[in-house]
Amino acid sequence: MDTQMLIGSKFETGGEAEEAVLNPKTGATILNLPEASQAQIEAAVAAAEKAFLSWSRTTPAQRSGYLLKIADRIEAEAKEFAALEALNCGKPINAVLNDEIPAIVDCYRFFAGAVRSMPGQVAGEYLPGHTSMVRRDPIGVVASIAPWNYPLMMMAWKLAPAIGGGNTVIFKPSEQTPLTALKLARILAEILPDGVVNVVLGRGDSVGNTLINHPKVNMISITGDVATGKKVLQAAARSVKRTHLELGGKAPVIVFDDADLGAVVNGLRAFGYYNAGQDCTAACRIYAGKKIYDKLVADLTSAVSTIKYNRPDDTENEIGPLISLRQRDRVSSFVERASELKHIEITTGGKPGEGSGFYYQPTVVAGALQEDEIVRREVFGPVVSITRFSDVDEAVNWANDSDYGLASSVWTKDISRAMATAARLQYGCTWINTHFMLTNEMPHGGLKQSGYGKDMSLYALEDYTAVRHVMIAHG
Ligand code: NAD
Repeated sequence: MDTQMLIGSKFETGGEAEEAVLNPKTGATILNLPEASQAQIEAAVAAAEKAFLSWSRTTPAQRSGYLLKIADRIEAEAKEFAALEALNCGKPINAVLNDEIPAIVDCYRFFAGAVRSMPGQVAGEYLPGHTSMVRRDPIGVVASIAPWNYPLMMMAWKLAPAIGGGNTVIFKPSEQTPLTALKLARILAEILPDGVVNVVLGRGDSVGNTLINHPKVNMISITGDVATGKKVLQAAARSVKRTHLELGGKAPVIVFDDADLGAVVNGLRAFGYYNAGQDCTAACRIYAGKKIYDKLVADLTSAVSTIKYNRPDDTENEIGPLISLRQRDRVSSFVERASELKHIEITTGGKPGEGSGFYYQPTVVAGALQEDEIVRREVFGPVVSITRFSDVDEAVNWANDSDYGLASSVWTKDISRAMATAARLQYGCTWINTHFMLTNEMPHGGLKQSGYGKDMSLYALEDYTAVRHVMIAHG
């Protein structure tokens, strides 16, 4: 197993206190990894700064070639990457191998093409006697900080547009899930020039905090909690850094009475519980029409009670445990508080799973009201609430009545109603008759406290580059 950080051309063991990396399926320690010292963080920033001088002047075709090589290597070692991610996150191996790895490989390949064909305004004589052109240039040294729910995928979303755009990066994985980043670091060191990507380990309030406050870091890209995003903004305010924030979510799902009930139930069973609900787009906040509500609660309850987890043969598992005991206790306490309310019924689940792993039973919370905590706060676990609505205005108002604005969906057979409703939702994404599906050509990002950074798509490349105007006088 790779355990060393990548700093410039060197692999180094962290010089500070050790952090335990756990197996969420058993609670056992996989290994202990020391975090980066201040001197090692300085060295990583210096390596990124030095590498920027030449990397920023490579051609798009050259950078595209590097991204394609990274994609090929991940694809070639898909099984090893999947096994490591499954071990560190507790994910079912098939979910990583069949869903995540192909999307990760495609992310590098998408940006390999995108960097060679960035669109923009045409050059021209907008002032008589002068030609103007718009350039898009790299920003500099980017500190990229990732969460634990999709470690290798978040790394792809952050690295591909950043280095594709000509920037250099110091990447910090979550202290809970560093293993695939350390493996990829070995491959990156073989493929990329020294210092283009550096990987440092450590906790948020030590290593992360040093990175976001570092004067030589020009941009901070973070996926994480809203509270962490606010800390990044405070740090950025002191030095006016560019920020790219992807924060939490609490996705509303509006199910109209005419929706295809079978499709809704299948969709919610899959997209409300995927990755044990540890997904910022999880279909977790259902608003169901008056007529469909009872049948939806009954059918969803039966469907969710068949979700397979904690089976000895991992290929049978549909979901894994939560990432940590802390996360499981947090999920558990949300459900406990909800179950104390008279109007709420926990129709399936509602308890921690058995054994020493951090499992939580797939849970349906029926009868929730708009003001309930379970409807308003991000649970980040296998828990879906259902609320009854009486008309479209109420559904849209409740859906929009949230601090978050990442993802949403509308389920109906009436396409006019679907389009009219989608137009009123204040979310970075609205799916119609589906949920959760992402594609590298399309942007992923939020509104409100979900942040404003766009991942994937040409919009990510825009986020990681700066627009510049160059004007030439004809003389
Ligand atoms: P977190 O904010 O605790 O940690 C995210 C990363 O930030 C980690 O690497 C952590 O070490 C680092 N960090 C924490 N405090 C920091 C600080 N003061 N300075 C610098 N870095 C710091 O979040 P998490 O618990 O790892 O992830 C779960 C959260 O991420 C959820 O709220 C979820 O909604 C969100 N998320 C959002 C998206 C999205 O695309 N919008 C995707 C995945 C996860």
